[in-house]
Amino acid sequence: MDEQALCWMNGELLSASAAKISVLDHGLLYGDGVFEGIRFYSGRPFKLDEHLQRLRRSAKAIALAVPFSMEQLSDAVSQLITAFHASDGYLRMVLTRGEGAMGLDPGSCSQPNLFIIADQLQLVSEQVRQQGVRVVIASVRRLPLDGLDPRIKSLNYLNHILARIEANNAGADEAILLNHQGRVAEGSAENIFIVRNGELVTPPVTEGALEGITRQTVIDLAKRLAIPVEEKPLAPYDLYTADECFLTGSGAELIPVREVDSRPMTYCPGEVYTLLMAGFTRLVQGGTQGA
Ligand code: PMP
Repeated sequence: MDEQALCWMNGELLSASAAKISVLDHGLLYGDGVFEGIRFYSGRPFKLDEHLQRLRRSAKAIALAVPFSMEQLSDAVSQLITAFHASDGYLRMVLTRGEGAMGLDPGSCSQPNLFIIADQLQLVSEQVRQQGVRVVIASVRRLPLDGLDPRIKSLNYLNHILARIEANNAGADEAILLNHQGRVAEGSAENIFIVRNGELVTPPVTEGALEGITRQTVIDLAKRLAIPVEEKPLAPYDLYTADECFLTGSGAELIPVREVDSRPMTYCPGEVYTLLMAGFTRLVQGGTQGA
């Protein structure tokens, strides 16, 4: 953590180390809550409206009321970015069920907690970003739609963490999770794209992926750059035989993949990745919410 990390907590601006949450909070006890990860560039949050809308949808899906209006949250984000010591950084917005009795019944929690941390985040070194990451397909599967809808960005990441442990054990940088049909869902905290014969392909979110905001940004960018793009189910075979592969996320931005289960990509970073990354950089530096 950056020593100068800040936290806006239920209306109050604090240093992140001074912000505390109760041991009785069901967010901690049961992972009962939802969150967003948002980057800001040159003092401006990227795609803030999209993140706030997704937070609201995630909260609604788990029957949790957001205790602040979208305007109040937007003001909180502005306050944090203004007070933060750097103009680029990362915001983690967390909404928990709040303090309650022992026992998982959310009925005992009367007041949700909402906090936003402003910090730095570098998921991979610049060198790794240039060379690409090595990924493995995890044996742990993405939770099925009728277990926990993958569109809910909940505080429950344990199966993703287990997948990540598999990647660590294999000496790889990241894990890809399959759905219960054995098709590709997403990375442990990123969406996935491949390029095949000049066409960009990503699995539909119904395959078990989060509706990634960076994913949508990349799809929109591809359309603008006249790169053919399609949402199609993918099998491990499609990853192994792709020309290019890359991961997307607010934290990750766009990261090229060098190798999937020891099968090297034909190109890394490839031409399509390079075009999209340049477009993405222009977008975030343009500062117009990326619209
Ligand atoms: N999938 C998962 C499981 C994630 O946690 C994330 C966000 N870290 C993403 C995909 C990427 O989503 P976004 O581009 O909205 O950050």
